[in-house]
Amino acid sequence: MWVDVIVEDVLRTRPVDTHVINDAKSPSGPIHVGSLRGVVLHDCMARGLLAKNQPVTFLFGFDDYDPFDSRPATVPAEFDRYLGVPLSEVPSPDGGGESYARHYGLSFENVWKTLGAHPHVYWTSEMYKSGGFNDAIQVALDRADELMQIDREISGSQKAERHPVQVVCESCGRIGTTVVTGWDGRQVSYECRPDKVTWARGCGHHGRRSPFDGGSKLQYIVEWAAKWKILHVTVEGAGKDHMTKGGSHERASAMVERVFNYRTPYPIPYEFFLVGGRRMSTSKGVGLPAAELVNILRPELARFLMVRPHYRQQINFDPGGETIPTLYDEYDRAAEAYVGGAQAKTPAEADLIRDNARTFFYSRTNGEQPRCFRMRFAKVAYLMQMPTVDVEREAEREKGAPLTDADRVELRQRMNDARRWLQTYAPDQYRFQVQSRLPDVPLDDAQRVFLGRLAEMIRGRPAWSGEELHEQIHALKNQLGLPPKQAFSAIYLAFLGKPSGPQAGWFLAALDRDFVLTRLGEAATGVRGQGSGVR
Ligand SMILES: [Zn+2]
Repeated sequence: MWVDVIVEDVLRTRPVDTHVINDAKSPSGPIHVGSLRGVVLHDCMARGLLAKNQPVTFLFGFDDYDPFDSRPATVPAEFDRYLGVPLSEVPSPDGGGESYARHYGLSFENVWKTLGAHPHVYWTSEMYKSGGFNDAIQVALDRADELMQIDREISGSQKAERHPVQVVCESCGRIGTTVVTGWDGRQVSYECRPDKVTWARGCGHHGRRSPFDGGSKLQYIVEWAAKWKILHVTVEGAGKDHMTKGGSHERASAMVERVFNYRTPYPIPYEFFLVGGRRMSTSKGVGLPAAELVNILRPELARFLMVRPHYRQQINFDPGGETIPTLYDEYDRAAEAYVGGAQAKTPAEADLIRDNARTFFYSRTNGEQPRCFRMRFAKVAYLMQMPTVDVEREAEREKGAPLTDADRVELRQRMNDARRWLQTYAPDQYRFQVQSRLPDVPLDDAQRVFLGRLAEMIRGRPAWSGEELHEQIHALKNQLGLPPKQAFSAIYLAFLGKPSGPQAGWFLAALDRDFVLTRLGEAATGVRGQGSGVR
C-alpha cells in the first residue's frame, strides 16, 4: 500500500521528534474537488505515522492574505471593487459576518471533516497580523535581490516577481497592486500602481509604512518557503503542477535552503483528481465544488476513491456507467480483507488482500468500522425496484442469519445510496419499473406463443425459485427454437415495457406468482384483464 511505503521512507530518511505535516489552499472561491486529494493524502500520512507511534501535527493553512484576483461567476459583480484586496478583508458573498476567505474555507473544512480528516487549521492573515511572519519579512527585505535571483535562476525566466514582499496600500487597502520601491530597515516605501496587474487597479498612492504585523505579505513562493521554516514542516506533498522542473516547489525549495536555512520538507508529488462525465459539465467548466462530492458518494466511498489509487496515478472520476457499483464492490473487497474474511490461495492473492486491508484502514472515516453484512450495491439497487420485495428480508436470507444493528445501518445506507444513484447516474440497464398494466408493446407471434407456454410451465410447477425459473426459461426457448434475445425481450416488454432488464429468472421469482401468471396470459393473448395491478 503506497501510504505505508512513504511512511517507511519518511521514518527512515527524516528522523525528528515530531513530524509536522502541512497542506494549504488559497480560499479564493468555491474550492474544487481536486483539492480534496491533497487533504486526504496528508491525512493518510498523519494516520500512518501515528500508527507507528510517531508524534504528528497535521496542519492545514488557508492562505487568506492572498489578494482577491478573480471573481467567480457565482459572486455578484459589485465584488469587482474588492479585486486586489486580501481575501481576509473581502466581505462574505452571502452577506454574513465572516470574510470572503472564511466563507469558502469553512465550507471546504466541513467536507474534509466528513471524510475523517482533522487537521489543525490556521489562517495566514492571522499569522501576518500577529507578527508570525515578521522575521521572514525582515530576511526577505534584507535579501530581496538574492531571493529574486534564485527565482530567476531556477525558473529560467526573467519574468519572475519584481520583489519578494507585497505591501498593503494604506489608502485603498489593496495588496495586489503595490510595488516596493525602498527599504530602510524599518519601513518600506511603496507605490500603489494602477497598471501593475491586469485584474485590479491600484489607487496611485505613494507611501511609507512598516511591513510588519500585517503591513505586508510575502510573495507566494517566498511565503511557501517561509512557512516551512516557521511551522517546522517536515512533510508536505503538492500537486504535480507545482512539481515541474523549475516550478514553484523547486523555487521555494531553493529559497528555504539557501536563504532561510531550513531543509525542504519531504515532498510527495501527487497526480490530479478530476471529475468527468456528462452531468458534471453544468458548472461552466469550473470543476465540481468539493462539497458536491459527498452528495454523489457516501463519505467512506469518496475517501476510498482517493486512497485506493497510487498517488502518482490520475483519478478521473465519472459517476456515470458502472463506476459507482464497481467502486462499491472494490470497497466491499477491501472491507472483507480488513476484517480478516478474505482467504488467499496463492502468495500473490495474499499480497493483494494485505494491500486491500491497508487501503481500507486508510479509507475509514471514523475509528473502527464495525463488522457487518454488506449486500452488493447492484443487488440492493435491483431489489429496491422490485415492487413486492422486502430488501431487509432478502438480506437476512442471503446472510443466513438475523441482521444485527450494524448490518441494518449499513443496509439502509446502501438503500439511500441506491435510491440516489437510480435517480441520477445509474445507466438505463440498471433502471426499471414493473408496469402495473400490460404495456402497449409490439410482441410478435413467436413471442406470444413463448409467453403463453411459459405461463403453462409455471402453472404446472409449485416451485418458485430464481434458479428454477431461469432453467425453465432456457429450456423453453430451446424447445421453441427462439433466439435468446427474442425470448428475453418478450419477458421484459411484457413486464417493464422495454426490451432489456435484470436476470429474468430471478426477476420473475421476486414478483408475486399470480401477478406473473396473469401478466403472461395477457401478453400471450393480447387481451388485458381486470385487476392485473402489481401487488
Ligand atoms: Zn492603493
